[in-house]
Amino acid sequence: MHNRLNRARERTPWDRRPGRRAATAGTRAALGVLALFVAAVAALGTWQVVSARDSQVNVIESGETTAARLASSALGSALASRLLLISNLAGQPGLSTVYTRTSASEQAKLAAELHVVYPGFASFALVSARGRLDARWPEAPGEVGESLASQAFFRAVVRTGRPYISPASQQQEPPGDIVTVLAAPVRDSAHRLVGLLLATLPAASLGQFVGGAQLPARGQVLMFDQFGHAFLGPAASASRSYRLVPALARALSGRTGAMTGDVPGFRGERLIGYSPMPSTGWVVLVEEPASVLSSQVAAMTERVTAIGLIVLIMAIGAAAIVASLLKRLSQERQRAGSVLASVGEGVATFDTDGVMLTCNPALQLLCGQQVGAPAGKRWEQALELYDQKGVAISWESSLAAQAAREGRILATSGYDLHLGRVDGQRLPVSMTAAPLRAGDELLGSAVVLRDISTEREIDQLKSSLVSTVSHELRTPLTMVQGFTELLLARHDLGAARSREALEHIHSAALRLGRLIDDLLSVSRIDAGKLRLDLAAVSVPEVVGEVIALVASNRSGEVATSADWAQRIVNEVPPDLPLVTAEKDKLVQVLLNLVTNALKYSQPPAPVRVTAVRKHDYAEISVIDQGIGLSEPETTTVFEKFSRVDRPEVRKVSGTGLGLYITKNLIEMQHGQVWVNSERDRGSTFSFSMPLAPSARGNGLPFAFQSTKEGAP
Ligand code: ADP
Repeated sequence: MHNRLNRARERTPWDRRPGRRAATAGTRAALGVLALFVAAVAALGTWQVVSARDSQVNVIESGETTAARLASSALGSALASRLLLISNLAGQPGLSTVYTRTSASEQAKLAAELHVVYPGFASFALVSARGRLDARWPEAPGEVGESLASQAFFRAVVRTGRPYISPASQQQEPPGDIVTVLAAPVRDSAHRLVGLLLATLPAASLGQFVGGAQLPARGQVLMFDQFGHAFLGPAASASRSYRLVPALARALSGRTGAMTGDVPGFRGERLIGYSPMPSTGWVVLVEEPASVLSSQVAAMTERVTAIGLIVLIMAIGAAAIVASLLKRLSQERQRAGSVLASVGEGVATFDTDGVMLTCNPALQLLCGQQVGAPAGKRWEQALELYDQKGVAISWESSLAAQAAREGRILATSGYDLHLGRVDGQRLPVSMTAAPLRAGDELLGSAVVLRDISTEREIDQLKSSLVSTVSHELRTPLTMVQGFTELLLARHDLGAARSREALEHIHSAALRLGRLIDDLLSVSRIDAGKLRLDLAAVSVPEVVGEVIALVASNRSGEVATSADWAQRIVNEVPPDLPLVTAEKDKLVQVLLNLVTNALKYSQPPAPVRVTAVRKHDYAEISVIDQGIGLSEPETTTVFEKFSRVDRPEVRKVSGTGLGLYITKNLIEMQHGQVWVNSERDRGSTFSFSMPLAPSARGNGLPFAFQSTKEGAP
């Protein structure tokens, strides 16, 4: 049994144990999670950088948009206030009189006075209801009297009756500024149109009105009319339209916003805020170099990237620390696991409810199970344990539960505890149970199970040794005692009877000697101390010696009948090749087989000794017609102290050691022994002995087979 377990253990592929696989798979999964964590941190960092960059761009752009909106409303209100001023002047009650009743020189004077009072305007002019230029400041005598009826401002005011702002136009006279013309209707008391009051406003003068608005530090404000003509800035022109410039196009379509792109009059890419101006259809752009945006974004991106990198490095560091801890943990687990796996005894742990937590492979092999993962089973399913009465031991009544309850180590003694194997066999085991603790917490208990079948076998052998030896000693000793007492007590026995008594004593002494020799042989064989001196030996000679020993009654056996030697039929061919053996041991082997054959058969049945050469071996057989052996008995007779339990055997004295010694001696001489037997028909004990080197290759194989083998 023990050997079988050991062999099974050797075959077990420990390295591919599921437990270890699970441990490494667990560690791999944890490392995967860590890698995911690092990747997630990296992705989050990248996303943060991108979104921070986007939001920074948004902030800057919305700042630009706001600036554009502010500039547009500042400029719009400045323009509106100018128009209101002109419109109010035109609405003055006295002004219509100047238009209708005064002379040209007085009208010119009024224009000049207006300029003095309102110096922000580049010129003032009075136009009659028919479109004639009546007066103008600065004076332009050549122009007075000209008809302006075809001009857009005149037509617009006459058509709508409302004040009018013109698109950008360039002054004819120096300094040739870009201006806008403001025109308002002049009416008499009956609300009839008597003329138009004109004022030209230099676009440059509007620039000052955006000063109050919070504009970008390095930028400029640009104003365009509804046709895309630029009032302000380096590209100011009343003749060139920039309406196709994207920022301008967007503003002209009524949108407010910010973008990067071209700005008329500026080189390179600019950051632009754009917004339409209220009521006029004009638009305002505020601009600054696009580098403002890129440098700010770059600075911010650098900052966020640096923070992200620090976080990433910290995450990688943390992951590395966790990974190394995990690795160490898994190594510790594997070490603990391999310690348990390499322990020869079965070890299992149970929780306080009797559910198996862990179990080492040795325990599974002890139970006859496949090595797998039986953890999680309850005590009753995990371990089939029986007490001396064969009753299954429950968790509550188990030593393991008791050890956990009492908090101390407990162990079984004797051979009462049995473990049920999967194949139905019950194995004697010893159990040690100890409480399982983690600090102060009681986790359950640990049990160690050990196969004690060998110990039990040894114990059984010991008891059979004591009983056999004492019995076998007692019989010859009784004879010695009886016959010596007879000799001592009776002086009148006569020579013949005295000799007979002495012969009995001698035979008893021989038997005692044989018993002691057998015991010594067994102990030497078991201790491995028996050394054989092998040489070329003649089997016919050995057979002759054995027959002589039996005939002289020195075999150590009590001859039940005087004709023992006569029953032996020697059929060994005298020219059998020599064998390699130790002669004395071969004599011992053959003597034992021959005396057994004589002992276990009835006279006058013969006991034949045959020998035949087979290849490089000689096969020697002792054939009797005695009590024979049943099939199961043939397998046990070679074991130590094994005697067949039958009356016909019991009535013959014996120790059960002879065949054990015989088998060992034959095997030590490189031979083999076997038995063919049939109950009540007789037995043939055969053994092989290697031929001596000198005899090998000589002679013909199977030389003696035809003549010497066959039925008795
Ligand atoms: P012993 O003869 O002293 O009992 P052995 O070891 O020589 O011990 O034999 C063991 C057992 O084998 C015997 O007790 C007997 O039952 C059986 N046995 C041995 N030889 C024979 C035989 N020739 N025929 C029948 N049984 C035999």
